Amino acid sequence: MNGHVPSPPLEPLLQDSDPGMHLTKGKSHTHRIILHADMDSFYASVEMREHPDLKGKPVVIGADPREGSGRGVVCTCSYEARKYGVRSAMPISHAYQLCPHAVFLPPRFAVYSRTSERVMAILHGYAEKFEQVSIDEAYLDLSYLEDFTDAEQIARQIKEEIHLSEQLSCSIGIGPGKVVAKIASDLQKPGGLVVITPGQIKEILYPLPVSRIPGVGRKTGEALVQRGISTVGDLAEADIQQLMGVLGRWAVPLQKLARGIDDSEVREHTDSKSISREVTFETDIDSPSVILETLEGMARELGKDLAERNLFARTVTVKIRFADFATFSRSRSLPCPTRDIRAILSAARDLALPLISKNRVRLAGLRLSSLSHVDRNQTTIGEFCG
Ligand SMILES: [Mg+2]
Repeated sequence: MNGHVPSPPLEPLLQDSDPGMHLTKGKSHTHRIILHADMDSFYASVEMREHPDLKGKPVVIGADPREGSGRGVVCTCSYEARKYGVRSAMPISHAYQLCPHAVFLPPRFAVYSRTSERVMAILHGYAEKFEQVSIDEAYLDLSYLEDFTDAEQIARQIKEEIHLSEQLSCSIGIGPGKVVAKIASDLQKPGGLVVITPGQIKEILYPLPVSRIPGVGRKTGEALVQRGISTVGDLAEADIQQLMGVLGRWAVPLQKLARGIDDSEVREHTDSKSISREVTFETDIDSPSVILETLEGMARELGKDLAERNLFARTVTVKIRFADFATFSRSRSLPCPTRDIRAILSAARDLALPLISKNRVRLAGLRLSSLSHVDRNQTTIGEFCG
């Protein structure tokens, strides 16, 4: 670790300081039931729904592979493609080498966004407190229910409703907090339903590899394993002084998470004044061109979102998180509102380039804000940029 103290992405999970959050509908803080729903290989599943002949085949969504000479990256792929080692954010040429007979498709972000909106509406129907965390993931606070058995019943209904109305499958995890629910939803993918009650945390969570804890990345995981802390249970029961030597200020919060202690609230996002996309790479990326291609994909997706909603954006923000979890955001206001993808991308490249040349990148994000409806006759930046 070279004395370096990692700072895991725990901010959204650990920021809660609202004293009211410990009470949910008059029930005690110990009664929390959180559900995490995560669509299974979302983009690929939507494509398979639209093209039933693709079912059971390896499907790779991303850039054109051009028989192995194509540039660009994999957005996502089906579980069949994953069996060949194909992963998201991998260069498309590599994916082609691994699985040349896969069906390669260009992404259709507008279709995925519309599907996502309908799926999220279904999920939101089951909980007033609802937090969408990405295009295909959300948390629901089901603490209004009597117990985990009721929650499991609700989860079955949700899966059935999504299957009936969208012909898509999702994996659901239920736990006493967001982190346990998220770990649970990943345990039996695809199509999983895993409930972890407070009483089952030792039995189910403790044997898992320590890297399952959000915030324990590869480097941190390796450092822990070197010190004999290889499972969640090892982390939960480790000597706190020893842990502080490895994890610094993250020792206490990470040990809490390993014990399944996590009070972070399910937060409804009320900010409709911006639209954004983020990608966490499966492996840290050190190639600026891969990161720029990813930003380009997000710019196209966001440009389509703007067009669909007849909106224009004035502010472009790029967010980059490095392998050591240091996170930087850079914003630029454009001369006038636009939804021209070239203008958005040009700003995003200018903002990202000085950041990404020096370090391996874990996450890239693009946000458009200062959104407005603009008179058709008004000049937009596309005309300035040519
Ligand atoms: Mg998913």
